[in-house]
Amino acid sequence: MKVTVLGSGSAYGTPMIFNSWGDADASDSRNRRQRASIFLEDEGKRLLVDAGPDLREQINRENIADFDAVFLTHPHYDHIGGVPELPRACKILGHQIDIYASDLTMDELKKCYAYLFSGIGEPDSGGLVWHVLKDEPVTAAGLELDVFSVPHHHLQSNGFRYKNFAYVTDWQGLPEYAAARLDGADLLLAECNNGMTPAQNGHSSWPEIVDRLKGLKIGRIVLTHLSARVDYRTLQEQLPENVRVAYDGMVLEV
Ligand SMILES: [Zn+2]
Ligand SMILES: [Zn+2]
Repeated sequence: MKVTVLGSGSAYGTPMIFNSWGDADASDSRNRRQRASIFLEDEGKRLLVDAGPDLREQINRENIADFDAVFLTHPHYDHIGGVPELPRACKILGHQIDIYASDLTMDELKKCYAYLFSGIGEPDSGGLVWHVLKDEPVTAAGLELDVFSVPHHHLQSNGFRYKNFAYVTDWQGLPEYAAARLDGADLLLAECNNGMTPAQNGHSSWPEIVDRLKGLKIGRIVLTHLSARVDYRTLQEQLPENVRVAYDGMVLEV
């Protein structure tokens, strides 16, 4: 299994608008972060996880030629801002794209992009085929994902376990049933928006993640969805050996 980090940044990216780097060192290319997304490939199957506003650049940068399905974690802009690119993706690929999203995400998408649901799509595209995600296993792009939800702000974000890999983004807590899904994973790719400093903003910091994962057996952890307050080198130096900071283009073999 191969996991490519398409974007390791938080909602506003790094640098933010007006070249605002926050606490991130502008001279370290690993701090240049697009919005959070991953590309999961296994057994010839390809799944895109989240479609944020940097989607087009991310797909082009990594020379991704095709994908079968898209998994949307939750309806915030940094995770769905690229959804309107997908009808054109269908047309270029010449096949349908299956999109998996919770009821909550679907409701929000219908408000944001009503035209995508009105039947007016790219002609001959095969179109977008919508599937509702629940807290239960689902087969997306031919991959069997064990889906769970975690609290994030006033809503829920969907994470998943696939074989010995788990992805969870935009989480401020870990309910017991979701913790059970992470237990035993070889690799956990997890949001750590706030680096070492806890903040009441619906996101996570490393001290909170340590507390949350207490008692769980997890091989390696990679931290992603990092805000401009997080400097790559500064955070990496403070982490245990089996924990790494993500950067755009990072490839993880599981
Ligand atoms: Zn986010
Ligand atoms: Zn979010």
